Amino acid sequence: MGDSEAMEKDRRYDVVIIGAGPAGLTAALYAGRARVKTVLLERGAPGGQLLNTEAIEDYPGFDHITGPELAQRMADQAVKFGVDLETARVTGIHRRGDKQVVQTEDGEYVADYVILTAGGEPLKLGIPGENEFQGRGVSQCAVCDGAFFKEEEVAVVGGGDAALEEGVFLTRFAKKVYIIHRREQFRAQAILVEAARKNPKVELVTNTIVTEIKGEDGQVNEITLKDVVTGQTRPLNVTGVFVFIGFQPNVQFFDHREHVEHDPLGFIVTDSTMQTSLPGVYAAGDVRSQLTRQITTAVGDATTAAIDAVKKLEAKKHELAPVPVDLYGPTRPDLVGS
Ligand code: NAP
Repeated sequence: MGDSEAMEKDRRYDVVIIGAGPAGLTAALYAGRARVKTVLLERGAPGGQLLNTEAIEDYPGFDHITGPELAQRMADQAVKFGVDLETARVTGIHRRGDKQVVQTEDGEYVADYVILTAGGEPLKLGIPGENEFQGRGVSQCAVCDGAFFKEEEVAVVGGGDAALEEGVFLTRFAKKVYIIHRREQFRAQAILVEAARKNPKVELVTNTIVTEIKGEDGQVNEITLKDVVTGQTRPLNVTGVFVFIGFQPNVQFFDHREHVEHDPLGFIVTDSTMQTSLPGVYAAGDVRSQLTRQITTAVGDATTAAIDAVKKLEAKKHELAPVPVDLYGPTRPDLVGS
């Protein structure tokens, strides 16, 4: 489909946002409120990983809210400001002239700016009970869910930096943390392994895999462990299972001819305004290379991206030169030196 057909179907927008997790919904809210013609494309229900989160206690302003409820509120708020929320599976992003073309299984969208908020997926173990007890004992986020396991016994699965670091973090709440790793040697940095070994609340269980997660009354209460050397299985009573076996960002959209700068793990690198190395393409939220992956950081990134895109659209409309980043705030030579 060419530009003209996209125009016929009224798929020409100022901003196309890809992925309706917290970042995408926030970008949509800001673009919508700025009265910029915006479409938010999502392949499933809006909410992203919020939909897999039973309870949230670390989103400011809400003592306690379920993930699906927060997702619904965010979606309602974005739509209220005139954003089109459409179901579409994005298959590619490329540039045509000074426009961005977003390909979907159902045709093209053409826009001045794209904000990629497609998130990513924590890798799964693929074992019985993992999906069933997601958010009911099974978690991929210690910062988000650790506090729900005060004085309980939990298991961490994985042997990389994330598993060791988060396992130790969980000892702030849990009375015992089993770190279960499929090999003898840990992939994690030695310093993290050492910290875990020294922690009296941590027990390292090596050469062992988890083969099943079981529960009662909809909550995890047991996992099945298998020793990969002897083949023996045994039950272990835990109420939480934290899976840290890697995270895959959703970056498959980029045309391989148009390289987008990313870090060694595939997360997209941006500048401080969330612009990627591709002109006109922003990235925000879990898909972006950054320190942490929280709802709060996702919405912050997305706010920055949307405001920057709106400013650039305004500049284009009035044929002004784009506002340089350092004009967004006054420079303080007294603070930064001359
Ligand atoms: P990772 O380094 O890829 O480690 C994944 C771990 O999960 C490995 O130990 C792997 O075992 C295990 N694993 C993979 N698939 C499995 C399966 N199906 N069943 C059981 N175990 C499985 O992932 P990560 O720990 O999330 O770290 C990702 C990146 O972020 C790394 O580069 C890491 O250095 C970085 N990171 C850094 C820090 C830090 O510096 N403080 C903190 C967190 C993450 P094998 O070892 O046998 O393959």
